[in-house]
Amino acid sequence: MEETLKTEGIVIKSSRFKENSKILTVLTQRFGKINIMAQGVMKPNSKALAYSEVFSTSEFILKKGRNFYYIISADLINSHYFLRESIEKMAVGFYFLDLVDKSIPEEEINIKIYNMLIVALNNLEGREVDYIDLVLGFELKLISLIGYKPYLVNCMDCHTNNSNSWYFDIEQGGILCSNCKTKESKYIDYKHVNKMSRYINLPFNELSNDTVNSEDKYKLHNLVYKYIQTKLDIREIKSWNILKDLFENSIT
Ligand SMILES: [Zn+2]
Repeated sequence: MEETLKTEGIVIKSSRFKENSKILTVLTQRFGKINIMAQGVMKPNSKALAYSEVFSTSEFILKKGRNFYYIISADLINSHYFLRESIEKMAVGFYFLDLVDKSIPEEEINIKIYNMLIVALNNLEGREVDYIDLVLGFELKLISLIGYKPYLVNCMDCHTNNSNSWYFDIEQGGILCSNCKTKESKYIDYKHVNKMSRYINLPFNELSNDTVNSEDKYKLHNLVYKYIQTKLDIREIKSWNILKDLFENSIT
C-alpha cells in the first residue's frame, strides 16, 4: 500500500495549472515548504476550492509523487477569511507569505517559522496591533529564526556599551560604536536599537505599546528591509511595493 502522509499546512502561494487544477506552495509542519498538485479544484462546486486558497490552513493527507505531493484529502482548519476584509490586511498578509516563501528552501522543516506565521496572521486578522509593528515584528523575528539575528547587545567589534552614537552594519549584521563604525554602517538612534530587540523578543500582541512614532518605525523598517534583502540575497520583494504605497499614503 502507498504511504500516506499527514500534516497541517498553510497555502502560501497558489497558481493555476491547466484547465481545472492548481499548484499550491504549502508551508507544512512536518515536511517544510512543499509543492502540492491540487487536481480538479477549479471545477465548479469543488469542495476543495476553500483549502486551495492562499492563507488557508488545513490538515492534509498527502501522497508523494515524483515532482509533487498529491492531496488524498484535506480538512480546512482556518481560511483566514477576515484577512480579506481590507486591502491593508491582504497586503500585509501577502507580504508575510512572500517573505516566508523567499526565505525557506524547499523541504526544510522549521516549525518555529510555521508557528510564527500562524500567530502573525491571527494578530493581523484581529487587528489589535498597528500594521507597521506587525510588519517589523514579522521581519525581525523571521530573519532571526533563519539564522541572521542582528547582534544588538553591544559593539560587535570592541564590545563596548559606551558610545555617543551607534551605527548598524548590514554586512556584519549588528551594531558598531563610533570608534568601530565603517563607511557602510548607518547611523541608528539608540532607542531604535532597543526597539529592534523588542520586535525580536516580544510576542506580537505586545508590540504596539511604546513611544516610538510611526514615521521613525517606517525609517527603521527601511533599514531592516535592506538587511533582509542583503541576507537573503533578493533584489526585490514585489508584494512589498503594494504595501509601501499603502504605508506612504497613510502610515498606521
Ligand atoms: Zn566598537
